Amino acid sequence: MKDNNSFDSAVIGGGPAGMMAAGRAAELGAKVVLIEKNEILGKKLLLTGKGRCNFTHKEFNIKKFAEKFGRNGRFLYRALSVFGVKEVIDFFESWGVKGKVEQGDRIFPENGNAQDILNVLVKYLAEGRVTILYNSKVISSKHRNRKIFQVLLRDRHISASKYIICTGGKSYPQTGSTGDGYQWAEQLGHTIIEPVPALNPVKTSEDWVREVQGLSLKNVSLKLFQNGKKCDERFGEMLFTHFGVSGPIVMDMSKNIGTLLKNGPVKLILDLKPALDFKKLDKRIQRDLEKFKGRMFKNSLKELLPLSMIPVIIRLSGIEPSKQVDYITREERNKLIHLFKELELTPTELLGFKWSVVTSGGIALKEINPNTMCSKKIENLYFAGEILDLDGPSGGYNLQECWSTGYLAGESAVKGH
Ligand SMILES: Cc1cc2nc3c(=O)[nH]c(=O)nc-3n(C[C@H](O)[C@H](O)[C@H](O)COP(=O)(O)OP(=O)(O)OC[C@H]3O[C@@H](n4cnc5c(N)ncnc54)[C@H](O)[C@@H]3O)c2cc1C
Repeated sequence: MKDNNSFDSAVIGGGPAGMMAAGRAAELGAKVVLIEKNEILGKKLLLTGKGRCNFTHKEFNIKKFAEKFGRNGRFLYRALSVFGVKEVIDFFESWGVKGKVEQGDRIFPENGNAQDILNVLVKYLAEGRVTILYNSKVISSKHRNRKIFQVLLRDRHISASKYIICTGGKSYPQTGSTGDGYQWAEQLGHTIIEPVPALNPVKTSEDWVREVQGLSLKNVSLKLFQNGKKCDERFGEMLFTHFGVSGPIVMDMSKNIGTLLKNGPVKLILDLKPALDFKKLDKRIQRDLEKFKGRMFKNSLKELLPLSMIPVIIRLSGIEPSKQVDYITREERNKLIHLFKELELTPTELLGFKWSVVTSGGIALKEINPNTMCSKKIENLYFAGEILDLDGPSGGYNLQECWSTGYLAGESAVKGH
């Protein structure tokens, strides 16, 4: 007989990965406890997709999906084949929450509310009679002969046949993800690849960005350079903030920016008009200047630039704002073209874990069996979610990784792999 402190599976961390792991293990008949240090489950999940939860990505091809995680992505093949994008969409739909495909193949719940996704998971856990311990921080674990036999909380201990660690990374620590699991894993013999912020806003040194804070640019291209060599390039949407730049293309590039900054200075080159080459842009500017003949230069850029950007570009160009457009020289036009196509930004640092959407690094994948999520060091230990050395771009990839690895870990813990 199992007492109140003994379970088949103990899942630590009630985020997306932990809830899915606990739910799946319980669905297969296990007596499961889910231990969460916050007063609620899924605190971070509720913030995802600006509260709308971009819970997966419309990419059904496993290989293509996994490629988004870089070299480590292959680790996900098995998890995605067991519980991939289609299965996740079907899962939430079977609980009454339909997915809706939005721009860039991002999938959100139909009603645009992350709470709907959390509600499904809570129901799933209730159906499986999972015991949920709230306000319960796991402090340490005890192990013997390559097996954990207990985890310690502040005022009690929990024993289980299997343990699944889903404590997430170090990003947004205010939601409970403070990297606790890394320490236990290390004590249990696992290697931790240094956790660094990814999908992170970037601080830049130029003062003018503050003047345009809040401005969002669509369909722009951003290139990353170090020592004159192009190291990354993205196309899409970005945002100016009071400290620098953010938005999807900046966030997706941030991991590379952070890595390169360790070696020396880097530059970002923003192309505001990627659809027009230098020649075509020159023609377009000439046309616009012609339209505004007799007017002051500062009033001639409205059709070419967002309003808040105009004073900045004028100042950077060095052209007298009150100059009559008829007298703009070829040289001055060239300066403008250069600013439109090669506007420089200088990253100084990333904003850090406090505001990074995911953590790159984590438990070294070579020490985990990708077919089961079981540790190769400790027989009855499994990992799932962001604690693994896996991070994808924005777009629903990271939550899908949590659903897939969580489901597989929960299932494997019960099936005894
Ligand atoms: C602002 C923001 C927006 C995002 N938007 C998206 C999006 O739209 N789409 C997407 O795919 N991804 C998004 N992400 C990323 C996604 O939220 C994470 O990848 C995901 O939440 C990771 O899930 P997890 O279960 O591994 O860990 P977490 O969600 O971090 O959950 C870990 C849980 O473990 C608990 N815990 C930690 N230590 C202990 C302990 N010692 N004892 C007990 N419990 C503990 C924590 O309190 C926490 O509840 C976003 C992230 C942020 C910050």
